[in-house]
Amino acid sequence: MASFKAIVIEKADKGQTVSLTTFDDANLMEGDVTVRVEWSTINYKDGLAITGKAPVVRRFPMIPGVDFVGEVETSSHPDWKSGDKVILNGWGVGETHLGAYAERARVKGDWLVPLPAGLSGREAMAIGTAGYTAMLAVMTLERHGLRPDQGPVIVTGAAGGVGSAAITLLAGLGFTVIASTGRPQEAEYLKGLGASEIIDRNALSEPARPLAKERWAAGIDSVGSTTLANLLSMTKYGGAIAACGLAGGMDLPGSVAPFILRGVSLLGIDSVQCSQALRRAAWRRLESELDRGKLEAMTRQIGLSDVIGEAGAILEGRVRGRIVVNIR
Ligand code: NDP
Repeated sequence: MASFKAIVIEKADKGQTVSLTTFDDANLMEGDVTVRVEWSTINYKDGLAITGKAPVVRRFPMIPGVDFVGEVETSSHPDWKSGDKVILNGWGVGETHLGAYAERARVKGDWLVPLPAGLSGREAMAIGTAGYTAMLAVMTLERHGLRPDQGPVIVTGAAGGVGSAAITLLAGLGFTVIASTGRPQEAEYLKGLGASEIIDRNALSEPARPLAKERWAAGIDSVGSTTLANLLSMTKYGGAIAACGLAGGMDLPGSVAPFILRGVSLLGIDSVQCSQALRRAAWRRLESELDRGKLEAMTRQIGLSDVIGEAGAILEGRVRGRIVVNIR
């Protein structure tokens, strides 16, 4: 294959252009593993890259897409051989290194994890960075000592990708889950994933008081800004919030009161540069713990030619759950 189908972002006089086109093999970047990409997905960050609404792309031309599953074509890396099924999440792919929305990718073998035997490529991308990040957040809260008997766990951005996966994982582990959403029409969907209570996200969007009534033992937050500040101010004594997103803003307009008066912890979650050991542990747990029926219920499939059209929708909070992209 001298050239292959790809979505390509080019720099323009004003901003950028994006199109589904062909890309020359010779222009792939350096890497010791070449992969025949089979499945990808759309994450919030992919929406930012394709629309250019935030400076996610730092090299032009760029093939966007931060996640893929595929089969190794050629490898000079000791861990990988032709025919291996692999997952890639993050590491700057789709930002500084040519990414996933293409029939072929060349990357560093050190970035790859094996596709768990119990997951299909499509399922792994239905999970994607969103689901793997939700798992990292759950594991981080567990390391903090969180147990189901300590009280409910709140999930914000509930009907989005990270939120839907987090609800499913937490409910599967026996936690009582409170889902915060701006889409009350998705209440039945969220209950189907395992949420016990639905709250309107507007209840968390006013400026936060230093301390408010204690409501939850922990939380997984995709939203940031005043939502995260409110979450902290309503966390029970000794509890923790895992912060992974900024869908509502990058600021954090709160006070130190929850930390110094209630011993509350704010735990940061990063999926992009996360260690191989943690990644593999997260994927093993996703393989064994994530309810496949619920995963399917939160997933919609599109083709490569539909990706550009969906990029704006995810930034506007109009995508429910997860989207998988069939690259072939
Ligand atoms: P989605 O768009 O699927 O979900 C985000 C959800 O947040 C929306 O569905 C919506 O949920 C809610 N939301 C959107 N806009 C606002 C707003 N203005 N105010 C309050 N709530 C809002 O994105 P993902 O789940 O893929 O990602 C969620 C966040 O996590 C993003 O900011 C993303 O960048 C970040 N992220 C970070 C990672 C990391 O490594 N730290 C990895 C993966 C994602 P609802 O309609 O239910 O209210």
